[in-house]
Amino acid sequence: MKRIALFPGSFDPFTNGHYDIVKRGLLLFDEIIVAIGHNTKKQRYFEVEHIASKIKEAFKDASNVKVVVYSELTSEFAKKHNAKFILRGLRNTTDFEYENGISQVNKHLNNQLETVFLITSPQYAAISSTIIREIHKYGADIRPFLPYEL
Ligand code: ADP
Repeated sequence: MKRIALFPGSFDPFTNGHYDIVKRGLLLFDEIIVAIGHNTKKQRYFEVEHIASKIKEAFKDASNVKVVVYSELTSEFAKKHNAKFILRGLRNTTDFEYENGISQVNKHLNNQLETVFLITSPQYAAISSTIIREIHKYGADIRPFLPYEL
């Protein structure tokens, strides 16, 4: 059976840190679905379909990476796509506290679902979508932090 992992996130925007997690995740899973969680009532900074197309472009040579936009419970979405794993990245203890909570709840909602964490590669540890949005607002060049041209 194919080992399918869901990599859920806001990806506003998708960064080199996220890209690294997917690339390393491909050593563990047969297929990774990058799932952009999008609540239509919540305002994003970068347009969701634009980021989705850019992530597809970044993985155009990897046929086992899919990109989808979703707006439902992650655990339900994983079930629908036959994904038995959720892939997440950990940068620090703040991430850990947050991720610990979500993974416990996801396990409660879908007992078949295992969350797998990869520790960030040190060169990406300081990259966050929040910081990138912040510096972009003030006109800084964010290209060094992204695996695609915006
Ligand atoms: P969310 O809004 O669900 O927190 P994000 O888009 O911010 O989603 O991040 C998705 C996942 O990627 C999370 O598990 C987050 O911890 C991880 N992540 C974010 N930035 C990095 C990075 N620089 N290195 C490794 N993992 C990261």
